[in-house]
Amino acid sequence: MHEYIGAVHIHSRYSDGTGDIPDIVHAAAEVGLDFLMLSDHNTLRPKQDGWEGWRENVMLLIGYEINDREDKNHYLAFGLDKSVGVRITAQEYVRRVREQGGIGFIAHPDEQRNSMPEHPPYPWLAWDATEYDGIEIWNHMSEWMEGLTDENKFQRFIHPLKSITAPPDITLRRWDELARSRRVVGIGGTDAHAHKADVMGFFDVEVFPYKVMFKSVRTHVLLDEPLRTGDDALFETDKWRFYDALRAGRCFVANANHGEARGFSFYGTSAEETLLPGDFAVYPGEGRIALHVELPVKARLRVLCNGSVEKELVTDEYSFGASAPGAWRVEAWLNDRGWIFSNHIRLGFADGTC
Ligand SMILES: [Zn+2]
Ligand SMILES: [Zn+2]
Repeated sequence: MHEYIGAVHIHSRYSDGTGDIPDIVHAAAEVGLDFLMLSDHNTLRPKQDGWEGWRENVMLLIGYEINDREDKNHYLAFGLDKSVGVRITAQEYVRRVREQGGIGFIAHPDEQRNSMPEHPPYPWLAWDATEYDGIEIWNHMSEWMEGLTDENKFQRFIHPLKSITAPPDITLRRWDELARSRRVVGIGGTDAHAHKADVMGFFDVEVFPYKVMFKSVRTHVLLDEPLRTGDDALFETDKWRFYDALRAGRCFVANANHGEARGFSFYGTSAEETLLPGDFAVYPGEGRIALHVELPVKARLRVLCNGSVEKELVTDEYSFGASAPGAWRVEAWLNDRGWIFSNHIRLGFADGTC
C-alpha cells in the first residue's frame, strides 16, 4: 500500500482561520505533508476560486464545514462542486452530501468546553442522520480548548502540542458502538480556528502557526496505487481514488508529535482473503481469521473488539486469532499518550452487523 499523510479540517482566511492558502500549503510542505483537506465554514469559495489541486506537491483538497441554524452539528463535506444549500437541518445536509456524490464526516462529535462560557462547544446532536461516511475521532483544537482556563492558557499557547493526549473516550466508545451496525470511518482533524485572537488578548498569533498544528493529529491514507504527485492532468482521477480510499476506511489516525507513525499496519488474513481496515467479513469461527499489527517502534498496543480491550501488551509486532465476531481495531500508546488509532476490521453476521 502507498501511504499518504496529511491534515484534515483546516480553516483559512476564507472563514475564521488566520492564514492565506499559499501560506497554509507552504507550512504543510515544510513539515512533509502529502495532502491537506481544507474546510472553511459554510463556503466553498476557495474551491470556486481555483485553489484545489497540486500545490508545492501537496494535494490540496477543498471541502467545507457546514453547521445548522443553531451553529451545532458541524459536518465536514468534501468532493462537492457546489454547496448543498443553507437553512437546512443536519439530517438534510448529511443526506444531500451523499446524494451529490460527496464524502462527509461528523466533526468533533462530543465536543465539551466547560471552562470558558464565551467559547461554547459544538457537539453533534443529529444522531438520527445515517448517511455520513465517518466521524472525526480526534480533533486537535477541541482537545486543546477542553480544559483551557485563564490560569493555563499561557502555557497552552506556548506549547500547543503538549496538551494533546488522546481522542476522547466518549467518542471512541461511540465509534465502536456505531461500527457494530456499519462501517464508520474514523479520521483525525486539526481544526485551526480563529479562537486565538480573542482568547489570547495581547498574545501574538504567531505562537500558534499552522506549521505547529501540522505536527500533531494527522490522518494517514493508504492507496493501492500511488498518486501521480504534481501531475495536474491526473489530479481529478487521483483525487477520487483518494476519496474512495478514505470512504472505504483505508486510513488511520496518528499524532506525529508522539512519534512517527509511517509504516503502521493492521490487517487480517484467512485462507481465502486479506482484510484491510474498513473491510467486513462474515465471522467464520474461532481461529479462522488472523489479525496482524505492525508498529514502527515498540509501543503499548491495545486490541479492542466492540469497544472492550481484549489484549494489551508492549510490542512492535503482534498476530492473533479473532476470537469472536465484532468490530476489531487497535490503538498504540507511547509514554501514556495516544499515538495510533486504526480503523475497524469488522467481522460479523450475514446481515452486515457485528
Ligand atoms: Zn467545527
Ligand atoms: Zn472547524
